[in-house]
Amino acid sequence: MLDWSDSKTVPAPIHPAFAAPTGDATGLGTIERGAARVTVDEKRMINARADVNQLLPLKYKWAWEKYLSGCNNHWMPTEVSMQADIALWKSKDGLTEDERRMLKRNLGFFAASESLVANNIVLAIYRHLTNPECRQYLLRQAFEEAVHTHTFQYIVESLGLDEGELFNMYREVPSITDKAAWALKHTQNLDDPDFKTGTLAADQSFLRDLVAFYVVFEGMWFYTGFAQILSLGRRNKMVGIAEQYQYILRDESIHLNFGIDVINQIKIENPQLWTPAFQDEVRAMLKDAAELEAAYGLDTMPRGFLGLNAALCEEYMHFIANRRCAQLGLAPVFAEADNPFPWMSEAMDLKKEKNFFETRVIEYQNGGALAWD
Ligand code: MN
Ligand code: FE
Repeated sequence: MLDWSDSKTVPAPIHPAFAAPTGDATGLGTIERGAARVTVDEKRMINARADVNQLLPLKYKWAWEKYLSGCNNHWMPTEVSMQADIALWKSKDGLTEDERRMLKRNLGFFAASESLVANNIVLAIYRHLTNPECRQYLLRQAFEEAVHTHTFQYIVESLGLDEGELFNMYREVPSITDKAAWALKHTQNLDDPDFKTGTLAADQSFLRDLVAFYVVFEGMWFYTGFAQILSLGRRNKMVGIAEQYQYILRDESIHLNFGIDVINQIKIENPQLWTPAFQDEVRAMLKDAAELEAAYGLDTMPRGFLGLNAALCEEYMHFIANRRCAQLGLAPVFAEADNPFPWMSEAMDLKKEKNFFETRVIEYQNGGALAWD
């Protein structure tokens, strides 16, 4: 006989002594029947007492607007034709050895990094950001990171690259490993199953993770990576990958700005976290990150090529690091630097409508299926 009584499926109520002191951070706890309705004043970025399952009323309109912008920018890597890239990659003198080295390491850096960023969002940030409109954006961003990882799968398949070599570079190429390991230090603190925000030390750990992934990974390191590929595209080389990177760049510029807004809003709500010592620590993080990037620049471009070399990339990192400091309300970390790649801002103003209908392929023929011998 089937037992239709509720008794076996209803979870035991949580004893008040074990309930989280700051409300239900996950949104998956016991429902508080008849609780007062949520007002915007109760909503908080971290340590909120307000129910995290209520998107409305909206408090942080900037988070909702970024969610809408992300949706408006929807794209898929398979919408970009790889035919010209395949032809160039397979031709003996299409790319120089230096260009191939840079391209492969750049792809290797991004292939794993998109996944690291996605895992950090889903497994670390999402748990502790106790605001439904920010979580709505995080869900969109997580999908975009999946689209970006898909891009590298599609490139590997189209060009017939060695997938093991590419996806293992973050463990096998020291200049890439050093960057990933530096960022992972900060998410590993949050990885402890007992980690909870709500103390000064824990909330500062959470901020360090946001700085490491949003400001450094997505907001600094990705930008040299974009500059490397877009500079090839400007010389009409690997134009399919360059177009995909433009779409990724457009997504990443929203990810970065979301991260900056999150950090700044946490500062407003928790000014006790943003001590002078902590500000110095964040500035030191950006400085370290620029140094790691200089090493990656030398490793990926030991000689440099037309319009791009390790020294220019280092200068670009100084310019970008100072810009990120300004966005966070911090003093610059480097002497005033000019932007050596002013064309990067044009690349960011990409209009999908204009660009997509010009380049979009009608039939999605996978390059990997073509014979080249
Ligand atoms: Mn991404
Ligand atoms: Fe991202």
